[in-house]
Amino acid sequence: MFRLTSETGLPMLRSSLLDEIPGVWHGFTTRIGGVSAGMFAYLNLSLNVGDSPDAVLQNRSLLAKSAGIMPEVVTLQAQQHGSEVVLCDELSPEAAHRADAFVATREAIPVLVGTADCVPVLLASEDGRIVASIHAGWKGVLAEVIPRTITAMRTVSGTRPESVRAAIGPHIRACCFEVGDDVASRFRREHVVERHARDGKLYVDLSAAAVCQLEDSGIAMKNIDVSSMCTVCRRDLLFSHRASGGTTGRTVAMIMRLR
Ligand SMILES: [Zn+2]
Repeated sequence: MFRLTSETGLPMLRSSLLDEIPGVWHGFTTRIGGVSAGMFAYLNLSLNVGDSPDAVLQNRSLLAKSAGIMPEVVTLQAQQHGSEVVLCDELSPEAAHRADAFVATREAIPVLVGTADCVPVLLASEDGRIVASIHAGWKGVLAEVIPRTITAMRTVSGTRPESVRAAIGPHIRACCFEVGDDVASRFRREHVVERHARDGKLYVDLSAAAVCQLEDSGIAMKNIDVSSMCTVCRRDLLFSHRASGGTTGRTVAMIMRLR
């Protein structure tokens, strides 16, 4: 289950499944609590969307303070809508990696992804020794970035999928993710919703597709938390690329082992 909490200063969504893991910090930011203005109001954490860099750096400082880390380690990598998975056991400068999934086994190394409609997934082993963050838009889901990350966790530290917990943060849900025939045809039939009654259009259920991939990778349903929030429906709380016409901020999903 997800809850919205301000207990560390900044309003953030947290998964009860990940909260139970000792020695692991995680959070999904919202757009509330930062200093950005206009289309980026308020807590935009990306330097690459046209917002004032000063505002973004101030916002990152707020997130860092909330997590108890130095602001310099809050960096975003060059996400590609692909399936590249990177092990980040050293701190990397901004945009050093072109990848969509990040794994860490060392303490105090945060791994984070920025999203506005795409699916953010945070993973941790139940013993808290390995964590991962994934950016999975529809292209990333089709490219199987989620299963690839679970495989990487096993390769890196022998982590069995049965001992992994997953939290899927807010993203564009089946209520709002209208797609064309070309995109719909690339998803499994059970993940496409056709609303004859409403508009006859096709919608993809990215939540279901992501859960399916987690389960197929060996993670039990009881170890999967899914936020029910849709980024388009909850523009008051979240950023939506689609609803904003393309110019908007990014929230982040961040996880790390504590020192
Ligand atoms: Zn919606």
